[in-house]
Amino acid sequence: MENYVENALKATIHSTPGQTEFYQAVKEVLTSLKPLLDADPKYAHYNIVERILIPDRQIIFRVPWIDDAGKIRSNIGYRVQFSNAIGPYKGGLRFHPSVNLSIIKFLGFEQIFKNSLTGLAIGGGKGGSDFDPKGKSEGEIMRFCQSFMIELSKYIGETIDVPAGDIGVGGREIGFMYGTYKRLTNRYEGILTGKGLNWGGSLARTEATGFGSVYFAENILNNIGDSIKGKTCTISGSGNVAIYTIQKLYELEAKPVTCSDSHGMIYDKNGIDLTLLKTIKEVHRQSLSEYAKAKPDAQYIPIEAYPKGMNAVWSIPCFAAFPSATQNELNLEDIKTLHKNGCRLVNEGANMPSTLDAIAYMQENKILFGPAKAANAGGVATSQLEMSQNASMQKWHFAKVDTKLRDIMKHIFDLSYATSQEFNDEGNLLLGANIAGFRKVADSMIDQGVV
Ligand code: NDP
Repeated sequence: MENYVENALKATIHSTPGQTEFYQAVKEVLTSLKPLLDADPKYAHYNIVERILIPDRQIIFRVPWIDDAGKIRSNIGYRVQFSNAIGPYKGGLRFHPSVNLSIIKFLGFEQIFKNSLTGLAIGGGKGGSDFDPKGKSEGEIMRFCQSFMIELSKYIGETIDVPAGDIGVGGREIGFMYGTYKRLTNRYEGILTGKGLNWGGSLARTEATGFGSVYFAENILNNIGDSIKGKTCTISGSGNVAIYTIQKLYELEAKPVTCSDSHGMIYDKNGIDLTLLKTIKEVHRQSLSEYAKAKPDAQYIPIEAYPKGMNAVWSIPCFAAFPSATQNELNLEDIKTLHKNGCRLVNEGANMPSTLDAIAYMQENKILFGPAKAANAGGVATSQLEMSQNASMQKWHFAKVDTKLRDIMKHIFDLSYATSQEFNDEGNLLLGANIAGFRKVADSMIDQGVV
């Protein structure tokens, strides 16, 4: 089976040159699938690995728009519809200057297995643009979103593909895109999730990824007779996932002491001031340096002052680390520092935040690990709850959605853990999550024939 996996990886590198982030995600998944592929030859027989590495389709389009100075600008738009073996494509849209096909493909590939793990009927996809919303006026963002949706609308639908937010795409951008879709089609349908509460959005969707990440961490700790209560935690990022991770950590009586953005980080040894953080990031969309101006006790470290090749967030001693900003933000040096300072758990709120060698170090050194596709699945799971409410024209209370979210995170933990036991690697949640997520999709592909 070694050759089968190696050959699939080689063929991918040959046919899709330069897609390093995609190869990284593929390598992580394929490595942990080995015990399943060895135990059951049917997956090789049906050539599932080779088939699943090729998206159903990838759509790349021009997004022209006019800036406030009247100048015509253009960006590249992407939607990669990876697999609809178990349900309509589902996955976020990312607007960030670093976006390229490799990044969208790694995110879409991960999304297939994450969505499968939730136990809900959702396939995997991802999209976005290299558009940078930073420093743009509201009018510019609206015009960009309108242009993006004029093209995207041809490929989505409530039973076809239902995008959501991701980095750079929050409630405001979803609103502008939804309005455009409605005007183009004259249909009021649940074709996007993360909508506003007055027009089809679900309560608790905003909080879901961060809350779900902490629920997942709590499941890991409860399983060894411990809990997050009273523990010092470090968090990277200060966007949607990071903010609601911090909020839930407080609700469970833990102590979150850091957050970061693309310019620097805050270490507040007394605990992050959540109200201040929300005002800076959600209301004024400012840099975190404003936090230190308002709270002189807190330490602000600008990114230029980070130790070379390291993320300063991970130099702060903690019991649990929650990387919640972006991919490859926690490397081998970072994990060694965390370990030396007594860190026992890394729980991934962001997608693929840990490098492959950092993950290998965690496994060798028995650091508890909540892998992204399990730990941050609460967002997409709650998006599916939004789709259910839209389809039945209902609106559920916050507590109902939150209870379902908590149950789903427990289900994901239990399934990943049980699968790790089944393959004689008890507690290896990366292996458990990858195999459990893959198996359901692969078995569905076999049932549906060569399509
Ligand atoms: P946001 O755009 O709300 O926040 C992203 C945060 O990360 C910001 O603080 C941003 O800083 C920081 N950041 C982004 N890129 C970099 C970078 N290259 N270096 C340093 N900091 C960076 O995004 P989300 O919180 O929604 O997403 C965060 C992560 O979680 C992503 O990996 C996303 O894919 C993943 N995720 C999100 C889900 C969701 O429901 N939103 C669901 C599942 C996963 P700045 O403010 O300066 O831009």
